[in-house]
Amino acid sequence: MAKTYKQIIDEARAAVPEVTADDVKARLDKKEPLALLDVREKEEYRQGYIPGAVSLPRGFLDMRIEEAVPDKKAPIVAYCASGTRSLLAGRTLRELGYTNVVSMRGGYQGWKNQGLPIREDRQFTQEQQVRYSRHFLLPEVGEVGQAKLLDAKVLCIGAGGLGSPVALYLAAAGVGTLGLVDMDTVDLSNLQRQILHTNDRIGMPKTESARLTINALNPDVKVVEFRERLSSENAMQIFSQFDIIVNGCDNFPTRYLANDACVMLRKPLVDGAIWQFEGQATVFKPFEGPCYRCLFPEPPPPGAVPSCAEAGVLGVLPGIVGCVQALEAIKLILGQGSPLIGRMMHFDTLQGDVRTLKLRRDPKCVVCGEHPTVTKLIDYEMFCGFGPANGNGNGAGSDAEQPSGQPTRLHA
Ligand SMILES: [Zn+2]
Repeated sequence: MAKTYKQIIDEARAAVPEVTADDVKARLDKKEPLALLDVREKEEYRQGYIPGAVSLPRGFLDMRIEEAVPDKKAPIVAYCASGTRSLLAGRTLRELGYTNVVSMRGGYQGWKNQGLPIREDRQFTQEQQVRYSRHFLLPEVGEVGQAKLLDAKVLCIGAGGLGSPVALYLAAAGVGTLGLVDMDTVDLSNLQRQILHTNDRIGMPKTESARLTINALNPDVKVVEFRERLSSENAMQIFSQFDIIVNGCDNFPTRYLANDACVMLRKPLVDGAIWQFEGQATVFKPFEGPCYRCLFPEPPPPGAVPSCAEAGVLGVLPGIVGCVQALEAIKLILGQGSPLIGRMMHFDTLQGDVRTLKLRRDPKCVVCGEHPTVTKLIDYEMFCGFGPANGNGNGAGSDAEQPSGQPTRLHA
């Protein structure tokens, strides 16, 4: 004869010991190693949960428990809303071989009614729950990570070749605030690679075109336009409004300026450079890895390194490098994985060759070394050998130039 629901619960209660909310609180306060499993549905968890709990809805227990708790002898406390479903979950866990499982009597409601601490994550709208559902499935992102992305503020220097994939993918991923510095307008010659822009926007300021594209993709994103040339006068003020700076500039003065400002503000600079068929990407995290000046203390002589406008660039290349930059920015925001700090990914697209080079800090570096001599922003046009009378173009512009100057020096 089929068992009644009451019989099933009674059996589970006989198999799974129960503990009180106070017991659990005391064990958590003592920092005992225990896995606190919230076995309610995702929607219930979203409304609030016990700090430190892992969300593992009962329907996913079999599938996910080994990942969440690899040790079958580990102490596990399961809780649900009122203490019934966690008994059933406890029985399932025992059947799966977990030997040290208890259920919290009274569940989350009991815990909350006693005034014990709870946490409520950001409440996502219905639309956001669907939009970011693939992120929610990844334990490394989840709802906590998505909230971090939505709260993050990332600045793109340039809304061109690199800035396009960077801004598009960061916007799609739900990075909540994207700043764009670019004073250019959309030109027909940009469209071979700058996928933020479209044919009918030729002549439009690039930051405006970028904002239209980004908000058409994801209205969650706030776009902050800086329709100006990045300079020693405005860089600190602009950078200070953001958590992470992504470099998509097209000239050496801006490259040194962005580096120095990031070191001075201790903000990570996700760097990328492209030239013809070659590209590279790295993360300059001040005082954790090298900065751009550690690698290249001196700018190349003016005119020694041709720009993309002079030497050409394959249309797909900024997509590859920009996607790596977007990825690195997301890793930094989430605090997941190993960012490319002190490492540089180098792409030779013609050969299909990808290498990761190790980079070292220079203790003598003039901005991040032991005895820095550059402690405020300088005149970068002068530093790079461009007199004020023949300044070089637009500053934060569309493409990057030859990979960080002389790539051969990177191979040492
Ligand atoms: Zn340095």
